[in-house]
Amino acid sequence: MTTPTTTPPRTAIVTGAARGIGASIARRLAADGHAVAVLDLDHGSCTEVVSQIEADGGRAISVAADVSDEAAVRQAVDRTVAELGTPTILINNAGIIRDNLLFKMAADEWDAVMNVHLRGAFLMTRAVQSYMIQTRWGRIVNLSSTSALGNRGQVNYSAAKAGVQGFTKTLALELGKFGVTANAVAPGFIETEMTAATAERLGMTFEDFKAAVAKDVPVGRIGSPADIARAVAFFVDEDAGFVSGQVLYVAGGPAS
Ligand code: NAD
Repeated sequence: MTTPTTTPPRTAIVTGAARGIGASIARRLAADGHAVAVLDLDHGSCTEVVSQIEADGGRAISVAADVSDEAAVRQAVDRTVAELGTPTILINNAGIIRDNLLFKMAADEWDAVMNVHLRGAFLMTRAVQSYMIQTRWGRIVNLSSTSALGNRGQVNYSAAKAGVQGFTKTLALELGKFGVTANAVAPGFIETEMTAATAERLGMTFEDFKAAVAKDVPVGRIGSPADIARAVAFFVDEDAGFVSGQVLYVAGGPAS
């Protein structure tokens, strides 16, 4: 029988962690023994997640930052280092949608999505990588989406999420020799405020929208934030060091 390896506690930063998938990832990493910087646009929105983690015996701080703001990202990482220690786990999860058909899409809807998903992931990763390299260990997990394969009304978001995949593979190539892995998780339909907003845009109740989507999912249900947190926890694991540059679709079936 093999003895399971124990994962030493690390310091993690999870962006967009005040709610939805990010909150679930933050709670999961804390439950796995890591100290977690719960990063989102403002402190107030993070306090509930921080309190839940603390109530469960974990360690967390709330960090307010816009991931697309270079100075704010530096301050957020500095604060994490000062209060929780060297960050060696980074989950680039913060995201927004600004859906529209191409012919109606405003340039600022395009820019806003690119700024959060791509510029945000770039700035966060650049700010954190030096700590990973210094430690000779790191785990980066970026949130992509099945929309990377194309999705009507999401020309901005699908381009950003496909971009996240290229970004991830290049990180894996550049950082691998320092013990740092980079992978992407690409969720299908997950029940969060983001998908609730999509239902509203389509003029459907969230319940009807979820039921309609579930019919086309091979496992017959939509996903939960915990489904995604489990996949992220796998990539972060101490024993996942030979898995890098991969995109894992977590969509209840083959992504299409
Ligand atoms: P959500 O809207 O519920 O939560 C996103 C969080 O990101 C919010 O707390 C928001 O405040 C934060 N955020 C937005 N812009 C930010 C910024 N500039 N700086 C810091 N924080 C910022 O979304 P979710 O459904 O939990 O999605 C999380 C991630 O998963 C996103 O990257 C999203 O694109 C991706 N995703 C979601 C789904 C889904 O079905 N929900 C599917 C595929 C991919």
